[in-house]
Amino acid sequence: MTSALLSSDAPAASTPASTFAEIGLPDALQRAVADLGFETPSAIQAQAIPALLDGRDIVGVAQTGTGKTAAFGLPLLAAVDPSLRAVQAVVLTPTRELAMQVADAISSFAAQIPGLTVVPVYGGSPFLPQQRALQHGAQVVVGTPGRVIDHLERRTLKMDEVRFLVLDEADEMLRMGFAEDVENVLRRAPERRQVALFSATMPPAIRRVAEQHLVDPVEITVARQSSTVTSVRQTYAVVPFRHKVGALSRVLAVSDADAAIVFVRTRGAAEEVGSALVEKGISAAYISGDVAQGEREKIVDRLRSGALDVLVATDVAARGLDVDRIGLVVNFDVPREPETYVHRIGRTGRAGREGEALSFVTPSEQSRLRQIERTTRVQLEQITIPTPADVSGHRVTKLLDRIPERTEAGRLDLYRETVAVHLAQNPGTDPADLLATVLALAVGDEGPGARDEMDAELERARLAASRDDRGARPDRGDRPERGERRRTNTHIAGGPARWRVAVGHRDGVQPGALVGALTGEGGLTGKDVGKIDIFGSFSLVDIPGGLTPDALDRLGRARVAGRPLRIRMDSGPRSDGPARAGHHASRPTHGPSRGRS
Ligand code: AMP
Repeated sequence: MTSALLSSDAPAASTPASTFAEIGLPDALQRAVADLGFETPSAIQAQAIPALLDGRDIVGVAQTGTGKTAAFGLPLLAAVDPSLRAVQAVVLTPTRELAMQVADAISSFAAQIPGLTVVPVYGGSPFLPQQRALQHGAQVVVGTPGRVIDHLERRTLKMDEVRFLVLDEADEMLRMGFAEDVENVLRRAPERRQVALFSATMPPAIRRVAEQHLVDPVEITVARQSSTVTSVRQTYAVVPFRHKVGALSRVLAVSDADAAIVFVRTRGAAEEVGSALVEKGISAAYISGDVAQGEREKIVDRLRSGALDVLVATDVAARGLDVDRIGLVVNFDVPREPETYVHRIGRTGRAGREGEALSFVTPSEQSRLRQIERTTRVQLEQITIPTPADVSGHRVTKLLDRIPERTEAGRLDLYRETVAVHLAQNPGTDPADLLATVLALAVGDEGPGARDEMDAELERARLAASRDDRGARPDRGDRPERGERRRTNTHIAGGPARWRVAVGHRDGVQPGALVGALTGEGGLTGKDVGKIDIFGSFSLVDIPGGLTPDALDRLGRARVAGRPLRIRMDSGPRSDGPARAGHHASRPTHGPSRGRS
């Protein structure tokens, strides 16, 4: 599947730079990014790096996942003199977790620069080790505004030699009440310094900071706040309030995700849901705004290492959380603000992985769902909550998968004897029946019972929602049947379905090659294929009549220009709609004028 980086490709106006050498990155940094596996600069990097290397200030409107850390981290290192043992660059971040991550990333970019030290400083952690690290001559400091100010006031941090300042997630810093501290740091920095300001949104307060403290900044925008991450499949299920915990545990039981985050609105709900999951034997924990920093950090580390699989969190507590293992986000409550929804689902589908975001809506909350769909311009796909049979089936499959290894391990005599005795005592028992019963018990299936009531209610709510839907959303196609899972989200905007393939200019692909693959492998005719837009690392193709599952299956194995096609329905904003126009990423090439154009 595609990486989130793909949603923001190279700039529209100029030819996108295709290598880090072409954007003028010094050799040592080129080697470091190559070692990290970065092949081509992302959109924000292609635009920000040359401007910053040129000594300009920049304002970057970009979210996490666009590669913004390298966009400022690499030029920052180019500006620092490693032989001078004084702080020359300061990066401000809203949270300590982000400070640590950014410090880590910058250290990895500095792998080929001997003598260069990066120190993270943040509150809630002892002062002295940070002070010592600073005294040892660190050149780069990454910290939260409050703690940076503390160090400045104690004179354990000096700004005299600072030539590069970064405000990362500036909107978050302001929202968290750091406005004064940020201003303070900016005022203390020498006048001859460069500033890079990054923010996911551009509210007036941020504009004011930019106007006051930046000099003729280059403005770079790569993604809109409300455009949703394309590698995340977005689904919803109608769940009456009292069945939410039950539904959640079933969803978690059948999920293939390595780890999941469950978002709740309140502290109380975090505790309640977290505890309920633990009681059901799920490896879960909860965090809310009032969990101490140290404790929060430990929990996040456990989630990252795999010691914990499910984290229940409030929005505040999950701020800045960046864990690659998260393959599933569950919105236990539908967020009131579409922006919150976008932030929440951005916790999954990271580092090029696939993610799923499932929202629970009560029958009365469906208008909120519509609002999210209108803002994000993505239509969420309704799914069915797994039944007890689905859960048991999933567990049995996992159990059966372990048979060869367990058989191989041996020491089964005890069980063989038990079976023999049981069969002798119960003549006429069919061994297949015996095995089936043992399996049912092993996966915790106690037979039909009270749970059926929950299923009946879930089904009633689902059907009612589907009926409402047909009236409210006439452009929507047939819904998937129970158990059937569509892999894509559909656009709300009218017009034919667009499909996304994972080959683009980067791969030297031409419209003819795409049409060739679609007709040759997918069995389409030339008439079935409409407009084709080729972008840096992917292409969009209109297929007005859609694709049959069979064609999709065949195309799933197809390759173009030596790369897998990986066709899927495009879940991003339409290329000709306002949302995609917002990321100055696309360099559309119009295919042969067939169909719409
Ligand atoms: P960021 O937006 O800075 O949090 O970066 C998101 C992820 O993309 C991180 O895991 C980076 O290591 C990765 N990344 C950044 N730039 C590139 C690039 N040019 N090519 C591949 N991966 C990248």
